[in-house]
Amino acid sequence: MLEKGTLKFMIQEIDLKDSDLAGFEEKVYVIADEVLNILKELSRENQKQINSKVIAERMFHKESVKNALINSSSLTPNKEEEIKYLEEIANAVLDKFSELVPSHMGDNLFSLKEIFKDHSIIKSSTDWLDSPISIIKKYINSISARNNELEKFLKQTMQYLAAIEAPLANELSSQQQKFMEDRDFQDNIFQYMDMMREECNVSDNIDSLKMAFINRIENITKSIEKKRTHDMACLKETEKTIEEMQKQMSEVKREADEVRKRAQEMEFEAYRDTLTGLHNRKAYDEKVEEILAHVQRYNIPASLIICDIDFFKKINDTFGHKVGDLALKKLAELLKDRLRKNDFISRYGGEEFAIVLPHTDFKGAIIAGEGIRSYIDNSAFSYKDNKIPITISVGISLFNKNDTVDTVFERADKALYLAKRSGRNKVKTEDDVASAETAIKQT
Ligand code: GH3
Ligand code: MG
Ligand code: MG
Repeated sequence: MLEKGTLKFMIQEIDLKDSDLAGFEEKVYVIADEVLNILKELSRENQKQINSKVIAERMFHKESVKNALINSSSLTPNKEEEIKYLEEIANAVLDKFSELVPSHMGDNLFSLKEIFKDHSIIKSSTDWLDSPISIIKKYINSISARNNELEKFLKQTMQYLAAIEAPLANELSSQQQKFMEDRDFQDNIFQYMDMMREECNVSDNIDSLKMAFINRIENITKSIEKKRTHDMACLKETEKTIEEMQKQMSEVKREADEVRKRAQEMEFEAYRDTLTGLHNRKAYDEKVEEILAHVQRYNIPASLIICDIDFFKKINDTFGHKVGDLALKKLAELLKDRLRKNDFISRYGGEEFAIVLPHTDFKGAIIAGEGIRSYIDNSAFSYKDNKIPITISVGISLFNKNDTVDTVFERADKALYLAKRSGRNKVKTEDDVASAETAIKQT
């Protein structure tokens, strides 16, 4: 068992011993991914106790975490750097967390980022991990509250059904009784008729026959009237029962509609990026799976565009995180403005956006990529009296039949980095990457 504070120790280990920034970043993401996986596991297990200690204990058993911890090279001596790394870990972990929770709670995570800018907090304790965990915990509690709600609804529905079942059974048996009564009534009438026929045969006195007939007819009339009154009462009873059943059924339907609506709302939230309102990473992952299946089955073209804001760090550093967030929102609006309705725009993470273009070949994707690049370049983003120029670099790949979710992304990502290396505010494709690689080989 690990003791409290072990996670802090583990993170400091990585932080202090790794001087390779790229490798370091990768490890941070491995750790953050595992924290996220563990939270999902705990949520699946309906674990009530979720804190950094529980997570640290599980982390200890993860192979990927162990691998991330070994092969660490010598220390980064600079204290400033160290704190910066810790801040980056905190932000990376928060970004990962924000994929998990719905938007209203995601806002809390984002405000935590601001708090973590105060270096002393990050430096002094593992509180920075506990605070987002408490937000996630709130979310997990809300999920179990929802499960309870669903359970309550099911129980109520069962009660309604039981309530309906009894009058239905009564109604059935009263229908059977009515059938027997009708048959008896018919038999009675036939009996009277027979008696009248008999009397006709035996009587030779017309007056006594007349009297007998009047008597019988009166009896028959009385029986019919009695039967009609009884039938009317039965009918009223049946109508009452049916009305009652309808009322209960519509109550069940209303409740079911409400539960369904709330489930849809939660589903929508789970696939939405908090800050920009665009699709989130989870939605992107599912979309790419769907597009790959289409490309493989129907041979339909589809392309992927990845864009990343140029020098975004400078905007945050100069104007603050809040303005950086506004810039991200503005960029999302610009992308929505410029692209087609059925283009799938997602915030892949941080200041990186992944756009899936269905039914779009390579040529079309280059036009779309160049379109958004120049549209953003020419759009003004201003905050207070400051005009803040924003540009993006764009990388493009074309889905192919043998692709996986990762390979198609990797090609677009390589193209994006070529665009960055070529001076930024540029569009590059997987073909450009291939040409650049050939050129390097030839020299
Ligand atoms: P490059 O042109 O090479 O892409 O430079 P860059 O500064 O844009 O890239 P870098 O990856 O160094 O920095 C990305 C920055 O984006 C760092 C991080 O603080 C910021 N960022 C990521 N997510 C958010 C967010 O949600 N809000 C804000 N305000 N900033 C964010
Ligand atoms: Mg950037
Ligand atoms: Mg980036």
